[in-house]
Amino acid sequence: MTGITSVEMSREKPRRQEIYLDHSATTPLRPEVLEAMLPYLREHHGNAGSLHRFGRECRHAVETAREQVAALINAEPCEILFTSGGTESDNLAIRGIVEAGDRTAKRLVTTAMEHHAVLHLCESLARANRVDLQVAGVDREGLVDPDAVEELLDDDTVLVSVMHANNETGVVQPIERVGTLCQKRGVPFHSDTVQSVGKLPIDVRKLPLDLAAISGHKLHGPKGIGALFVRSGTSLEPQALGGAQERGRRSGTENVAGIVGLGRVCELLRGELQDVSKRMAGLRDRLQEGVLAAVPDAAINGSTAHRLPNILNLAFESLDGERVMFALDQEGVAVSTGSACTAGSLDPSHVLLAMGQSHERASSAIRFSLGRDNTGEEIDRAISLLPGLMEQLREKPDGFLAEDRPV
Ligand code: PLP
Repeated sequence: MTGITSVEMSREKPRRQEIYLDHSATTPLRPEVLEAMLPYLREHHGNAGSLHRFGRECRHAVETAREQVAALINAEPCEILFTSGGTESDNLAIRGIVEAGDRTAKRLVTTAMEHHAVLHLCESLARANRVDLQVAGVDREGLVDPDAVEELLDDDTVLVSVMHANNETGVVQPIERVGTLCQKRGVPFHSDTVQSVGKLPIDVRKLPLDLAAISGHKLHGPKGIGALFVRSGTSLEPQALGGAQERGRRSGTENVAGIVGLGRVCELLRGELQDVSKRMAGLRDRLQEGVLAAVPDAAINGSTAHRLPNILNLAFESLDGERVMFALDQEGVAVSTGSACTAGSLDPSHVLLAMGQSHERASSAIRFSLGRDNTGEEIDRAISLLPGLMEQLREKPDGFLAEDRPV
């Protein structure tokens, strides 16, 4: 018997401890956030667009949340519009710029390591002949070269989109330099900041970006809520038409409880971002050192000099990352193979392939992503499990069977 079968999967061992190390996929809702949301799920059921008292109460809550989100990134409240999450924010930013009435330019410049919320949209716009898509590569460390982006710009460029921090490797991109060169040419610049907001200080008055995406559930806020920063003066074609909510830029009755939750979590993060990020970086380093010492052929994917404080992406030579992930899962440790959004697919990560890795190495990747509540004990336990699991997996050389994968 080789490989991990569904029979083995179903014979779940009693779990000693649940250790969640997949915070880049999603985060648990903070109790303070739930607390803030509950009144808007229970008693305050008004439509924020209604003029009576029920509506006005909700309108007030929405506008307070807008101020809280804006404050986290030093934006003006009127520069924040609420969406259903990171995917919608990225889509609205890119399509909204490409389709804005006064823009005839066609070139759209992005990078090969973007999240699919950006990449798939750009490819779809290119297939429909709406844009001339130019994709900048990344180096072996997962970094985009601003000069390479600049070379792709021409007088016909409508938008540049470069993510702030990569969701798989955690590599932080030089968006300040990219933004500056866009600014010089008068080209709008969008950045997918879904993974960096709440981990890195972001000040949109200093960072030269015009549009930035935020997602609630990556911040210990609720799922199904997000925001898009749109710098004042940027023209954006709305994508959802209807009741003209969000100053006509995103129609649809406001998700008041979600918005309140996003606002509250941003308010909490403002005061604690630095301390929490420092603590997470310490635990991430402890994990990195521990795993590299315990599993000598493990190797880090991506730059260690430019990285989010909470992500560690490792290659486990000649092992299938999915098998490592399921083996850890059996021990109560939740990690991910690359992006959670592509976890239903067996294709190796497009990010690691873009970094020049072989299919085999890219398929061996495991992403550990830490959160504010992880402890040193949890990290030590994860480290201590790995050598034994690696040995077991190497003794069972067959890959994880596709038909055995849980849905
Ligand atoms: N962009 C990045 C970098 C992400 O990591 C994700 C989610 O994994 C998204 C966009 C999509 O965000 P959401 O899940 O809120 O739609």
